[in-house]
Amino acid sequence: MRKINKIILHCSDSDIAEHDDIQVVRRWHLERGWKDIGYHYFITKNGRVRWGRSPAMYGAHCAGHNRDSIGICLSGRHKFTPYQFNSLRNLLIRLMKEYDIPKSAIYPHNHFNKNKSCPNYNVQEIIHTL
Ligand SMILES: [Zn+2]
Repeated sequence: MRKINKIILHCSDSDIAEHDDIQVVRRWHLERGWKDIGYHYFITKNGRVRWGRSPAMYGAHCAGHNRDSIGICLSGRHKFTPYQFNSLRNLLIRLMKEYDIPKSAIYPHNHFNKNKSCPNYNVQEIIHTL
């Protein structure tokens, strides 16, 4: 079992309704030649948490940090819903307990890649409410 030390938060970079679907994002990633969707969890606009890649497997979501992290993606580019943030909070609380991860080890994607705006929502604001 790999050691998970951090959680990295993303967005899908699309507000198109048909893209609010883990199967669409999975297809994008399979088309890149990956073996599965790069994220471990995907949260649709109605707040449903969908399972992506197994947390037992390395993800493919943040260069240089896939080995020891879990990747969570919220569907959206600029429009996110309160349902998503509620589900994200609950998921974070569960994962922090399960893997013994502190709040200080929850990061926005652009913490590691300054060229990206991902995840386009305020991660610190979410962490403060945990
Ligand atoms: Zn990202």
